[in-house]
Amino acid sequence: MPKAQETVLEIDLKSLEHNYRFLRTKLNPSTKFLSVVKAFAYGSDADQIALKLQELGTDYFAVAYVKEGVALRKAGITKPILVLHPQAVNFERLIEFQLEPSLYAFGILNQFMALLIQKKINRYPVHIKFNTGLNRLGFGEKDLESLFQLLQNQDNLEIVSLFSHLAATEDPQEEVFTKNQIALFEKISVEVANRLKIQPIRHILNTSGILNYSEAQYDMVRSGIGLYGYGNEAKFDAELKPIATLKTIISQIHHLSPNDTVGYNRAYVSKSPRVSATLPIGHADGIGRQYGKGKTFVLVNGQMAPIIGNVCMDMIMIDITDIPSKEGDEVVIFGPQLSAHDVAKTANTISYELITGISQRVKRIYTP
Ligand SMILES: *Cc1c(COP(=O)(O)O)cnc(C)c1O
Repeated sequence: MPKAQETVLEIDLKSLEHNYRFLRTKLNPSTKFLSVVKAFAYGSDADQIALKLQELGTDYFAVAYVKEGVALRKAGITKPILVLHPQAVNFERLIEFQLEPSLYAFGILNQFMALLIQKKINRYPVHIKFNTGLNRLGFGEKDLESLFQLLQNQDNLEIVSLFSHLAATEDPQEEVFTKNQIALFEKISVEVANRLKIQPIRHILNTSGILNYSEAQYDMVRSGIGLYGYGNEAKFDAELKPIATLKTIISQIHHLSPNDTVGYNRAYVSKSPRVSATLPIGHADGIGRQYGKGKTFVLVNGQMAPIIGNVCMDMIMIDITDIPSKEGDEVVIFGPQLSAHDVAKTANTISYELITGISQRVKRIYTP
């Protein structure tokens, strides 16, 4: 990769392949793999990532919203696409682009059924979601009888899968809670399959679930963060490769005298002669103000430089006093050399938020 000449997000498709293959080693060969590519493939680039995963043999894709699924179809994705959180207003488009809805409550289920009846569509593939303790989306155990009434003796829906989502797979202290969620899913899914006389795909594990509870892999698993190179635990981070490197350059260097201040609201005051560098990346690019005022470091020629003062919309300033560097030098914000997990932690958040927040203004480039 040539040196950066502006702010770029470099995406290494070989690392994506490595992560996909690593996660697969945790699974039985027959277990299907659903790649979660919502939110622009966790802030990287949904089209390129999904095309690569399709080539690698992923069985399924998932996105959060219909719009994201439509974009994947337009990019050439032909594998089935599960829409995790569809809204009824987008059902026509969902059908037009052969996307498969997660149906998680009676309201949305009835609306979807009514549309299929109106359009005289039979056996449309859908996924039924159950709430086993996350209390976010899903039918509960108490809903089962009413659900059977609706789903028996109808021909509009084909129930492709039954699934649930776990709340704390990365947290060993929540093992009992997680196992209870899995047990409840087992009970509900067996009952639904028996009563409706169907043999659906069953799935409950996310990335940390694959890594910590592979015994509950059922017929399919759903992975997002692991594909992008983060395992939520040091021992798994060591095996995975972050696929994206956020890089920028030094635009200008300033030599500060004692009591000079840097940036808006004069939030940084130099106590001694210091050297600062200004970088063309700011909160509009996804590096929020919470990373400012000395909390977070970036890498300049392999050395750590703190972000000083307030993060601006289009710029940040860093302290490079002890780092040999010049205008135009490359700066790494996160990547394999500086984990997004560690950077996110400096601002009390998680890798997911940092990487999905890199705005569309930042240019994406690829190594094949
Ligand atoms: C986002 C999401 C996933 C992916 O979780 P990771 O921790 O990124 O692997 C899986 N399932 C559902 C329902 C999700 O919303």
